[in-house]
Amino acid sequence: MVISEHNSNVSQRSSGDRILKNERISMQEKSVLEQENIADTYDGPTYIIVDKNALCDIFKYTLCGICNQSTLKLEFGHKYGFSHQSKLVCKTCSEQKTECFTSPRLEKKSNTSTPFDVNVRAVQAFLAISGGHASVEKFCMFLNKPLMSSKTFNEIKCATLTQCTLLLPKLC
Ligand SMILES: [Zn+2]
Repeated sequence: MVISEHNSNVSQRSSGDRILKNERISMQEKSVLEQENIADTYDGPTYIIVDKNALCDIFKYTLCGICNQSTLKLEFGHKYGFSHQSKLVCKTCSEQKTECFTSPRLEKKSNTSTPFDVNVRAVQAFLAISGGHASVEKFCMFLNKPLMSSKTFNEIKCATLTQCTLLLPKLC
C-alpha cells in the first residue's frame, strides 16, 4: 500500500512537472512573440519537416492547366545544405509551372554567395546546442535527409562566430 501511494505521488509529481514545463515553454514562446511584437505580423521564413512523398502527393490529383492531365510532378534538383531546388513540371506536356528553392536566401538579391536562411538557422541551432558538423550528420542520417556539407557548415559557423552582422542579421 505504501509503495503504491509512493508510486502514485511520484506519478502525480512527474505529471505536474511535465505540465509546468509545458506551461513554461508556451509562456516563453508567447512572451518572445509579444516582446518582439511579431505574433500577428511575422511573415518571414518558418519551417516544417515534410516527407518528400507527402509533398509530392499534394500534386497527384491536380490537373495541369495546359493539357488537363493529372501528371504534375514535383522534382528536386541541386541542394545547397538544407535548401533544395524544386520545380513543378507536367510530365504530359512538359510545361514547367514553377521553380524555387525550399528556403529564401538571407537577402532577397539573387546573389549566389548569400547563404540560405535555413542553413544559417540550422548551423546556429547546432552551435547553440554545442553540436558540430558530426551532430548535423547524425540529424540528417536519422531523418534520411541529404547531408549539409562540412564546407557550408563551417562557412556559416565562421561568419556566426566572427559576428559578421552584415552577413547574418539577428535570427532569434
Ligand atoms: Zn500538362
